[in-house]
Amino acid sequence: MAQARASEIQPVRADLVDDYDPSRFVESLQQVIRCATVVNDDGTYDETTFDEMAKVLVQRFPLVHQHLERETFNRHGVLLTWRGTKDDLDPIVLMAHQDVVPVEAGTESDWTVPPFSGAVADGRIYGRGALDCKGSLIAILEAVEYMLERDVQIERTVLVVLGHDEEVGGHKGAKVIARELEERGVRPWFVVDEGGSVVVGIITAVDSPVALVGIAEKGYMDVTLTAEGEGGHSSIPPRDTPLVQIADAVAKLDRSPMKPRIGTMAPMLRALSGSMSGVAGRLAGRPEMAAPILTRVFARDNLMNALQRTTMVPTVMSGGEKINVIPQLASAHVNVRIIPGDTIASVTSHIRSVVGPDVHIEVDQDVSWEPSALSSTESDGWRVVTGVIGSIFPNAIISPWVVVGAADARYFEEFSAGVYRFAPFEVDSEAIAGVHATNEFVNVKDAQRAVSFFVRLISAAATTAD
Ligand SMILES: [Zn+2]
Repeated sequence: MAQARASEIQPVRADLVDDYDPSRFVESLQQVIRCATVVNDDGTYDETTFDEMAKVLVQRFPLVHQHLERETFNRHGVLLTWRGTKDDLDPIVLMAHQDVVPVEAGTESDWTVPPFSGAVADGRIYGRGALDCKGSLIAILEAVEYMLERDVQIERTVLVVLGHDEEVGGHKGAKVIARELEERGVRPWFVVDEGGSVVVGIITAVDSPVALVGIAEKGYMDVTLTAEGEGGHSSIPPRDTPLVQIADAVAKLDRSPMKPRIGTMAPMLRALSGSMSGVAGRLAGRPEMAAPILTRVFARDNLMNALQRTTMVPTVMSGGEKINVIPQLASAHVNVRIIPGDTIASVTSHIRSVVGPDVHIEVDQDVSWEPSALSSTESDGWRVVTGVIGSIFPNAIISPWVVVGAADARYFEEFSAGVYRFAPFEVDSEAIAGVHATNEFVNVKDAQRAVSFFVRLISAAATTAD
């Protein structure tokens, strides 16, 4: 199908959403936070919470449900189709997931307000899922409702994909929807999902806000290391017991990281080079040349280190039950995030060479995946998305990055011209600390901008200027 030429991309109208009432966003978000759409680590969830959320959405967004086609997949995965008048134009896809992670037992009372109350305090809408990812979900639907209220006609079809199990891999929701769309021959012009936002005070040596737009995702691996030995009574211990071997193996892995891949970071460094202070700032504009120094500087910063290489960290260790008995078996789970350029195979052989032949390595293939391909920063889709970001967040430097976590968007990579990860919220270290933890929130002051972002994005991509 036809791609728009650059000349066909519509300019962004700055005055578009002045008359949007942001309290509508706040109320909608509060109501969906109250639906505790929790998916547990084992993939189970309470179906009625998703039914409840579906009801709230019908109530809050009557025109969306009147004008858009609504299909469900595995009962709770939702695909909404807002059909444009020109079906030779490839559609755009806007995504956000409905599910949330549990609140860790025993931490409920640490919250400023109860986690599923959706209460507003200190200018913030608190609640599990506020930022990840119900804020985006509500902003998308508020935007579409707003446009339908004003009778906006679109030429390019807009698809809204609302998965319901992103937090456990998205296998029943977004993955199934993506596969179905691919089979129908849909080839999205671009996809926008979570996986980036406007960060303030997060990137070392950069003072200005930075709009991080994900152009790829790191891969993921769960690895189990096990060591076996004789065991026995601790009064006459042998050397090098299974516990010692495992402790030694994880310590070696910590000291022998995989090699940095500054090339993957290069687009980000070029975007930030003018704004970075210190050594990094002077060298960031020429990342390949300055690689030896930059990689050493970045290795001292946890975020920058995670952006420049595959990381691996032990998360669970076990072995032994009694203080005077040497266990015959010890193990460690190691969680790996793979940077584009490395692969599950290359990581496995690195681990093998580091831990040696006596420690058994097992990769859980069911939950592991390769890093994604890099979406283009030269495409029309990139220009549209970043043009709109720039109009909403004029003070932010726009930078591509490789998302260190995972999102449903990866299921669209193989058949879309560009997959970009960005949620239109400003976040600082406190906001980021709340995600998957205590006191997750979205700022009330972001409501207007978040909805404006999607109105302008849809306008720029799918409508024709007057
Ligand atoms: Zn999420």
